[in-house]
Amino acid sequence: MAVVELTRITKSYGEGDNRQTVLQEVNLSIEAGEYVTILGPSGSGKSTLMNIIGCLDIPSSGNYFLKQEDVSRLSEDELARIRNQEIGFIFQQFQLLPRLTVLQNIELPLIYAGISQKERRQRATDLLARVGLAEKASVYPHQLSGGQQQRVAIARALVTKPALLLADEPTGALDQKTGQQIMALFQELADEGKTIVMITHDTEIAQQAKRIVRIEDGHVKEANQK
Ligand code: ADP
Ligand code: MG
Repeated sequence: MAVVELTRITKSYGEGDNRQTVLQEVNLSIEAGEYVTILGPSGSGKSTLMNIIGCLDIPSSGNYFLKQEDVSRLSEDELARIRNQEIGFIFQQFQLLPRLTVLQNIELPLIYAGISQKERRQRATDLLARVGLAEKASVYPHQLSGGQQQRVAIARALVTKPALLLADEPTGALDQKTGQQIMALFQELADEGKTIVMITHDTEIAQQAKRIVRIEDGHVKEANQK
């Protein structure tokens, strides 16, 4: 089943002479269980594409079906529900909430989803162990290293059992060794059958996934399958 089905997606910003087309007729289909990297230089449209896939922004034209549901037909409330429950976001700067403990950060998406406290605690605790940080449940994000914070962010992204993990330069703020450990964790998640879309400008990182989609000046150039 296709989790993501983009057809002739175009995105422009600005008006009149300032109008800039950032994505040009992008076609992209991602099946359940695929691990895909989207590779392109700075300014090529990667984050714009991620925002559309993540239902954070809407295309100027074209169609987007997420799990066979036409996203353009959904209300703002329904889009917010999809963002929270179907998509696990992972960012370069982790974006943990500083005043919540590690466990509370991981539980937060489940509060929005209306899950009981007992189940929230159970699922967050299990995932914290899964990312190798069981002993860090009650500390605050600033007490962790960058790599540990990104592990917490990955646990938070997984906690709603989303259809899709969407990561934008997840190793961009980490040193090389820590970045490789995070990439190893993504590989384990891919081996477990998670659907992952990772955005990167780094060719070496992109090559760790089975499928690399190249983007240049808003055009998807190739979508090679190894
Ligand atoms: P990347 O993530 O590959 O670096 P982006 O998708 O962030 O690329 O940006 C692609 C182009 O779109 C850039 O030229 C950028 O300036 C422009 N752009 C991105 N977001 C906006 C916006 N909200 N308004 C106007 N221009 C934007
Ligand atoms: Mg970007």
